Amino acid sequence: MTTGKVSVALTLQWGSATNVGFVRSQNQDAFLAAAPVFVVADGLGGHAAGEIASRLAVEAFAPLAYRSEVTRADVVRAVTDAHARILAHAEADPTTAHMGTTVSGVAVVWFGEAMHWLAFNVGDSRVYRVEADRLMQVTVDHSEVQQLIDSGRLAAEDAETHPRRNVVTRALGISRDPTPDCWVFPADAGERLLICTDGLTKELRDDEILAALAEATAPVAAEQLVAAALDHGGRDNVTVVVIDALPTSQTSQETSEADDRTGPPVPAPQS
Ligand code: CA
Repeated sequence: MTTGKVSVALTLQWGSATNVGFVRSQNQDAFLAAAPVFVVADGLGGHAAGEIASRLAVEAFAPLAYRSEVTRADVVRAVTDAHARILAHAEADPTTAHMGTTVSGVAVVWFGEAMHWLAFNVGDSRVYRVEADRLMQVTVDHSEVQQLIDSGRLAAEDAETHPRRNVVTRALGISRDPTPDCWVFPADAGERLLICTDGLTKELRDDEILAALAEATAPVAAEQLVAAALDHGGRDNVTVVVIDALPTSQTSQETSEADDRTGPPVPAPQS
């Protein structure tokens, strides 16, 4: 008998979708989907300020887009850079004072030949791992309701109806220390990840999210998720990024022709 280890090359396929919803006049969400980095940001602040903050956050990740390799330090630096850009903008333009944003995402990192996911978040935008019949939340929200759950004062099932469910406890541009929390785990063939703003999770239960994700390619699943959030009321901006890790042998013509594989245009890096 022999044993061994084979490192399998995985190919990423992804899709993304965003919608302003039916209540808000502006879409203050922003996203970047450009392997090896995938990010969503949910802007906070009145008027156009939230929109600016989330855009600045996403732009700080643009230098990592399409790079062959990124590290945890690169991701943390991008988050820190985003925070600094937002503060600098708010100082230069007082109409945007106190703006902020969540940021949450996934980067592909390597340990030797082993591909891993690095999930990270500041605020209450989330990263999920999709398993056959379960949605596993990877990130832990920085929110008042999460603190109440952690201290045993609120049941998790009551969080989405709590009056202070929208209050985040860590945000870029607002918190003194906006360090992201990070989780690293091996990437497996056939795995699917979901990154989303709370416009998705406040409209849909886990089983409804799973239903929208079922048996679709990543670009189709992303569109289906946003459509489902709108069907349920679309009371907030909603943004999703869906990422599949496919065995390279499975990346047939059918999947490689997906319409959203390269994501939206990548914002130009700023000096
Ligand atoms: Ca939101």
